[in-house]
Amino acid sequence: MALKVLVAATGGVAAIKTPAVIRRVREAGMDVRAAATEGAYRFVTSLSLAVASGQEIFDKEAWFSPNGRLKHLELAAWADVLVVAPASADAIASAATGRADDVVSALALSGISKIIWLPAMNTAMWNHPAVRRNVAILQGDGHILFGPVDGDLAGKHEGRGLGRMVEPEAVPSFIEGLCRERDLEGRKILISAGPTREHIDPVRYFSNPSTGKMGYALAEAAKDRGAEVTLVSGPSSLEAPIGVQAVRVGSAEQMLEVLANHFTKTDMLIMTAAVADWRPVKKMTQKVAKHGERLTIDFVRNPDILLRLMGCRDQQVMIGFSMETSEGLSRAAAKARDKGLNFICLNYLLHDDIPFGSDFNKITIVRPNGDYEELPKLPKRRLADEILDRGAPYLVDVNR
Ligand code: C5P
Repeated sequence: MALKVLVAATGGVAAIKTPAVIRRVREAGMDVRAAATEGAYRFVTSLSLAVASGQEIFDKEAWFSPNGRLKHLELAAWADVLVVAPASADAIASAATGRADDVVSALALSGISKIIWLPAMNTAMWNHPAVRRNVAILQGDGHILFGPVDGDLAGKHEGRGLGRMVEPEAVPSFIEGLCRERDLEGRKILISAGPTREHIDPVRYFSNPSTGKMGYALAEAAKDRGAEVTLVSGPSSLEAPIGVQAVRVGSAEQMLEVLANHFTKTDMLIMTAAVADWRPVKKMTQKVAKHGERLTIDFVRNPDILLRLMGCRDQQVMIGFSMETSEGLSRAAAKARDKGLNFICLNYLLHDDIPFGSDFNKITIVRPNGDYEELPKLPKRRLADEILDRGAPYLVDVNR
């Protein structure tokens, strides 16, 4: 189920970024509503917030309209999380003293279980003992602070300093991390990602366009749910999520070696890697010179990593990925059976118009007996949780 996020702007120049926060949160597959104080409207318009959220805005006018007086309670009952972005010193003070004289302080009192403040203010204000006191009160009440960070500040004479609101891009994964149930605590999860590179000589190789995004999203999702995650990645420009142990590899043989070293201690293996099926028989130690009009290279089959690992399988849950262009369901089910998988995630390269490297994916979960479940097109981070939701029930209860 999508997380329900209420994004509220208060009066600060960083409110010009609130529509970007809303967009990022929506792009991550969460349901979003927005609220704004009168102060916020000095910096951002109701229209830009409404366009970004696709919803009417909860503001003073909506609150004081006929039937509007209970709206803060209705919204609070709807929301899983309230994100105050930006959070001004004034908004923090209001909430810390339990006032309810604007929409944000009223929402903060209305029973939303998770409230995240994204402060944005001048460094001197942020460091002032009164602000420090109010922040400590909110934290004592269980509210969460995200930022501020060191960076460019808006005032003409300020330059850089602590007080800048965190960037909108950072908000969705912070929310995910906070709201997810830690149902994988104590579990070890091994994930492969990206392509492999099979070298012909030191400067040339065979590979494929996989970027690794699906595997990295799974690693982040599993870590957010409390798992101890090892990510074995072929060449990728992505950075491993914080808190995930990442091992970089090149070829399929290297990937097999690293995965085999971790496999016996693992509870679940998710193979998203686009492993090259073939490698040149010989890797030249020197660059192959250009001569003649043709080049013939002999290839040999790479080991099938899943098949090899199946040989030393104990109770590990095993999940694979399969990209097909035709007869996907029957091919995927056959692969799930042959490779001993609990299920396989099938994507159709041609049907769904989702290129390599997209932030979205559309998969069908296919089980060895041919049963299948089609999932909607989702951001990869959301999809990662859907896959983990389906893998978790196979985990064997250990001392639980
Ligand atoms: O390439 P194929 O369609 O067989 O991939 C299905 C699954 O097998 C994927 O999860 C992939 O990571 C895995 N695989 C593997 N070793 C290979 C090729 C694929 O483990 N040599």
